[in-house]
Amino acid sequence: MQSSDKHDIGQALATLRARIGRLEERYDRPAGSVDLLAVSKTMPVDAVQAAVKAGQRAFGENHLQDARSKIEALAAAEKIAGEPPLSWHFIGDIQSNKTREIAASFDWVHSIGREKIARRLSEQRASELAPLCVCIEVNISGEPTKAGVAPKEVESLAEIVLSLPGLRLRGLMAIPQPAPDMASARLAFRQLRDLLDDLNAKGFDLDTLSMGMSGDLEAAIAEGATIVRIGTAIFGRRHR
Ligand SMILES: *Cc1c(COP(=O)(O)O)cnc(C)c1O
Repeated sequence: MQSSDKHDIGQALATLRARIGRLEERYDRPAGSVDLLAVSKTMPVDAVQAAVKAGQRAFGENHLQDARSKIEALAAAEKIAGEPPLSWHFIGDIQSNKTREIAASFDWVHSIGREKIARRLSEQRASELAPLCVCIEVNISGEPTKAGVAPKEVESLAEIVLSLPGLRLRGLMAIPQPAPDMASARLAFRQLRDLLDDLNAKGFDLDTLSMGMSGDLEAAIAEGATIVRIGTAIFGRRHR
């Protein structure tokens, strides 16, 4: 059985887009200011295809091998249909030995947490491609096991990334701890927004706050998310 038989991805996307529109209005965000990244990790090609059919163009993946087969399959299909390319966003942990393929296959990386990875991605980004759009991942809740840089280290990493010709620094990303209520969820996202505002006040020109998932997108939109990364609310529950 295919995943799209059990769960109507087109319907879920329509419902989600309508919800994002209502939240933009409720929190005084301009209409269309929150972009939807469909997190298709672990989902089969046909699920991504169903989302494309429903108008979705940007997809998030966190596992290189799994992503590559989808990127290739969809590129072939889109070529036949004469559509412009989809955009692919890497959102997971990055090992050094994977940077070359990530630099070749993706348009965005949301999970820059180390200088070494940033330097490799920049060196390995082919010069005929546009610079790779990147966000620095911030460990906003200070969890010891979590990826991302501490808030106080963001500026120095941002300066390094800014100097790398193969990368285009767009902003910040975070995955805060699940919060018990709206007020504490908003507090974590506000910390990320404050960090972005600080950087911009210091002369950076950053336009992206990648924050909010299926369970906390309202709090994220309230605090200024420009990209929400949504998996479950589009594709249904993941089984691995
Ligand atoms: C899986 C994942 C998401 C999507 O999570 P959902 O709860 O399924 O919406 C968003 N961001 C990152 C970094 C993820 O790994």
